[in-house]
Amino acid sequence: MLFVISAPSGAGKTTIIHEIFKQMPELRFSVSATTRKLRNGEVNGEDYYFISHDEFEKKIDNNEFIEWENVHGELYGTLKKEIESSINNSVNTILDVDVKGALSIKKLYPDAVTIFIDAPKKEIEQRLKGRKTESEEQLNKRIQRMEWELGEKDKFDNVVLNKTNPGGIKIAAEKIIKIIKNKS
Ligand code: 5GP
Repeated sequence: MLFVISAPSGAGKTTIIHEIFKQMPELRFSVSATTRKLRNGEVNGEDYYFISHDEFEKKIDNNEFIEWENVHGELYGTLKKEIESSINNSVNTILDVDVKGALSIKKLYPDAVTIFIDAPKKEIEQRLKGRKTESEEQLNKRIQRMEWELGEKDKFDNVVLNKTNPGGIKIAAEKIIKIIKNKS
């Protein structure tokens, strides 16, 4: 079973996914390819396959992706070989993709379970601003995209709220774990 998790940037998705893996280490993570630079603490081949634009374009030409998107100016793609190995080996797999990617995967694999992590708009904005990793222009782009993404949530099979109250991450992770256990 494929579990496709999406959220607007700043909704806490990465932390929630780490929490899910702590509790369910038997799950598999579908490692995407990306042209963005590796961040501190990330591991090539575990978080992403970090590749050049040329390599990414070659993979597009060779039809190696089931979907790919330009997210905030970098390319990200789900590799066919990752998904096929999960399906062939019947391994429950988590995909962390943007909203457009999730909806494309659902069209291709109608049995996939899509999960949208929602958060109050004000809280997302505060988290994005608090990170201080983006320029003013990048920040405004992320906020615009976030507003569009929030508008797509009804197209997902499940919407899970992540609030900043103490324990919010654990509560959201537990809701997703319940969804995974019910479906598998
Ligand atoms: P980040 O650079 O913060 O790791 O990811 C930026 C965005 O790209 C996130 O929303 C993440 O879910 C999305 N993303 C990561 N991998 C893929 C992928 O393979 N396909 C698509 N469509 N989006 C992805």
